[in-house]
Amino acid sequence: TKFTDLALDPKVLQAIAEAGYETPTPIQAQAIPHALEGRDVLGIAQTGTGKTASFTLPLITMLAKGRARARMPRSLVLAPTRELAAQVAENFDIYAKHTKLTKALLIGGVSFGEQDKLIDRGVDVLIATPGRLLDHFERGKLLLTGVQVMVVDEADRMLDMGFIPDIERIFQLTPFTRQTLFFSATMAPEIERITNTFLTAPARIEV
Ligand code: AMP
Repeated sequence: TKFTDLALDPKVLQAIAEAGYETPTPIQAQAIPHALEGRDVLGIAQTGTGKTASFTLPLITMLAKGRARARMPRSLVLAPTRELAAQVAENFDIYAKHTKLTKALLIGGVSFGEQDKLIDRGVDVLIATPGRLLDHFERGKLLLTGVQVMVVDEADRMLDMGFIPDIERIFQLTPFTRQTLFFSATMAPEIERITNTFLTAPARIEV
């Protein structure tokens, strides 16, 4: 498979060519077509396999047309730690550099003020840790009813850190009709239960 076979937005293809990527990794080659068709994806993959691009590239492609309304993010990416959320945000900046898509990074240890301003302007891709996202929600600063695509990254670490109740709550705040892209390095019973509850006929990809 080549990146140009994957029906990605030309602006995304340009950015990945500039990043020096030549061929999709196995998780990318398998996950991207399903994601672009609108299917839920369950990716069982470790860090280092290229999984970040496997959800970020289709996400950018699917959101490229359309614009975010104030306080109603169009997509949501959840990561277990500040560092991982910041890494996803860095990746997004590289792959979306030729688009006009907006992002906000909601992580702890940063004042709410700047994050509020970004949310007010309208966000295409909201990247957050679960606790911080719920803090903003409880402050009445954002609605998740406009989320078309929700990504959960490193679910096994979310489980280790006790975030599964937060994840369930966030799932319930998003529309039932959302698309879900869910990634975990391992499939513990608790993770399996979450995916059975919140994913619809996912394409299961194991690399
Ligand atoms: P990840 O597993 O998402 O943390 O990605 C691991 C590293 O691989 C990151 O530094 C990416 O920039 C890089 N990467 C991802 N996909 C590709 C690709 N198709 N070709 C070359 N490098 C890649």
